[in-house]
Amino acid sequence: MKTLKIAIQKSGRLNEKSVDLLKNCGLNFENYKSSLISPVSNFPLEILFLRDDDIPEYVQDGIADLGIVGENVIQETEVDVAYLQRLGFGKCSLKIAVQNTSNIEDVKELNGKSIATTYPVILGKFLKDNGITADIRTISGSVEISPGLGLSDAICDLVSTGGTLKSNGLKPFADVMSSEAVLIGRKGSENEDLIQELIQRVQSVLRAKE
Ligand code: ATP
Ligand code: ZN
Repeated sequence: MKTLKIAIQKSGRLNEKSVDLLKNCGLNFENYKSSLISPVSNFPLEILFLRDDDIPEYVQDGIADLGIVGENVIQETEVDVAYLQRLGFGKCSLKIAVQNTSNIEDVKELNGKSIATTYPVILGKFLKDNGITADIRTISGSVEISPGLGLSDAICDLVSTGGTLKSNGLKPFADVMSSEAVLIGRKGSENEDLIQELIQRVQSVLRAKE
């Protein structure tokens, strides 16, 4: 029988909940922090521990059959994968924020301004849909300090509680997208029976939580 592969985040905000979900599905595996792959002893499945950014492409390219990743990462990487199940954790929103002292209050006022983000693709589409021309400054992290350093007029970043924005003197004023962790699969996979079995287990774990 073919062994399925599921890609989950190696460490970070989605790791623990992804591992818990799989364990609650009755899957037995060692959660080795040092290894990239863990075999499941009681199901034909291997778990790949990856950086979240790599998960959508691994699934699209068929290196993994399934993956657990934030919708924000899927949309940013523009891959073509099947959304199998929303998972109800890792909830956050991609928001545009400015400094508390800024007088920008509306999306239209972003015309001609600069916006720092790690999500240039999603932000670019949002601005286009709103008919706004702004300078997107793509940076790889610590977006929230950018306005204070004079690097940008605004930021577009993930927010869950809003605490990080607040402690950096920023206020959000526009929602670009909301996101949660989702189970994704490759379109047209040959292992439909095993995949369906896993999806059903995931769904009963989620139902038991309601
Ligand atoms: P990796 O090392 O795997 O690349 P990362 O630093 O890119 O990790 P994390 O910060 O662990 O990513 O976030 C993983 C996902 O958790 C995000 O892509 C998003 O879907 C979700 N998330 C939930 N709340 C937040 C938040 N407040 N800030 C950032 N991401 C959040
Ligand atoms: Zn990442």
